[in-house]
Amino acid sequence: MGPAKIVIVGGGFAGVECARMLERKLHPDEAFVQLVAPSSSLLYLPLLPQVSSGVLSPRAVTVSTRRVLKRTEFVPGMVVGVDPKTRQCVVRRASGVELALEYDHLVLTPGSITRILDVPGLQEHGFGMKTLAEALYLRDHVLRQLDVAAVRGDEEEDRERLSFVTIGAGYAGTETAAVLNRLTRAAAKRYFPRLDPSHVRWRLVTHGDRLMPELGERLGADAKEILAKRGVEFVPGLSAAQVTARSVTLTNGEVIPTRTVIWTAGVAPSPLAGHLGADTVKGRIVADTDLTVPGLEGVWACGDAAAVPDLTKGGEVKCAPTAQHAIRQGRHLGKNLVAALRGKPRKPYKHPDLGMVVDLGRWDALARPLGIGLSGAPAQFVARGYHLFALRTFAARTRTMFDWGMHGITGDDFMRIGYSDYPTQTIGGFERTSDYLTADEVAKALDVDPELA
Ligand SMILES: Cc1cc2nc3c(=O)[nH]c(=O)nc-3n(C[C@H](O)[C@H](O)[C@H](O)COP(=O)(O)OP(=O)(O)OC[C@H]3O[C@@H](n4cnc5c(N)ncnc54)[C@H](O)[C@@H]3O)c2cc1C
Repeated sequence: MGPAKIVIVGGGFAGVECARMLERKLHPDEAFVQLVAPSSSLLYLPLLPQVSSGVLSPRAVTVSTRRVLKRTEFVPGMVVGVDPKTRQCVVRRASGVELALEYDHLVLTPGSITRILDVPGLQEHGFGMKTLAEALYLRDHVLRQLDVAAVRGDEEEDRERLSFVTIGAGYAGTETAAVLNRLTRAAAKRYFPRLDPSHVRWRLVTHGDRLMPELGERLGADAKEILAKRGVEFVPGLSAAQVTARSVTLTNGEVIPTRTVIWTAGVAPSPLAGHLGADTVKGRIVADTDLTVPGLEGVWACGDAAAVPDLTKGGEVKCAPTAQHAIRQGRHLGKNLVAALRGKPRKPYKHPDLGMVVDLGRWDALARPLGIGLSGAPAQFVARGYHLFALRTFAARTRTMFDWGMHGITGDDFMRIGYSDYPTQTIGGFERTSDYLTADEVAKALDVDPELA
């Protein structure tokens, strides 16, 4: 028998950590590993808001997969369908050409996308914060509002342009509002003679009553206080009811004039999860504690796309969609896959929460390492130290350190690249939500008997 064919879908935290573990543990004769992803770099999502604010350059947060992985074949493209019966998947390359990949073991780690609720106008007019393109596009759009407001002189329109609304107060929304609020207030001071920084308004809207509930009550309250001092208005108990190009209507009927609604109210699993014929929980692929997918022979899943029982909480609840779980699950899956290939027993995934870090810009940070609450400079030290450790390559760590250092010395930059001058992309367009095939289309693409599929 030749080497086992392993196909990993997704080049995020879970997929890359799994591939690393397979490279470390397996002899080249034991398996041939392929990793399919649209880009050959791992996007370090927790630092994405800092790209939006211009503190970090895009290259600092993209870790080259080819530097991290040595023996894994990278296949550029999207897996748009899977036929578990014939053990093949359909890969759509950037050129649009589709190809079939055979596997003995399929590892599903396609992550998540922005969760779009049925809010009229959100898809067309909202901004997401899930991809590098979205982060750069948002930065450009925000600075463009200041550019236009500085020369227009129409009070009503200026109010719209200088009002920014973020919906969702988890880590993505809170960090994005914090760092972009800082940027816009600093930028406004540079506009001569008309822009008054006090005209810039940032609102952070959440349906809950707390900022980042994951932080715990005390640190959540600290975050709220820091943001309030910096002029971010916290609006609890509400969400968006309608979004237009020039306003957002909140669920209490209040209409806020704005041209910038940033939507970070949760994530939904990759649409691929619903195209496999596997059981799902809230759209996530049901995985066993050993990270196999029940009922689909040779299929494994972990990370944001998978509903993995959280054994530290009794197994009834599922692990939260966090980078911490994705990294640990990816490694664990790699070890279990090696065990399966060698006929050894697989172990259940169990990982206690190690805490979290939140960077609100400059010396404002919060951290809860191993349950110890920190704020200010010690928290920033822990937060940045953790990110540098987790970045994996020397190149990415060096770029990130350099950018932080440069920002510390030279302050903010306010140039636009010009993306927002092009036709607006929707969240769905940026995140490619409609690429996937039905079972019949998969069968056609693979040219197998539809009965078998
Ligand atoms: C702005 C922001 C800030 C965050 N901050 C934190 C934080 O501070 N702490 C924390 O713990 N978590 C944070 N998270 C969450 C964390 O980033 C995710 O939980 C983590 O990235 C999940 O890892 P993953 O490997 O499952 O998916 P991802 O990292 O999303 O990777 C999925 C990969 O699959 C690829 N892919 C998708 N579909 C396909 C397909 N059909 N075919 C092939 N490839 C595909 C994608 O291109 C990507 O490479 C943050 C998220 C965001 C958006």
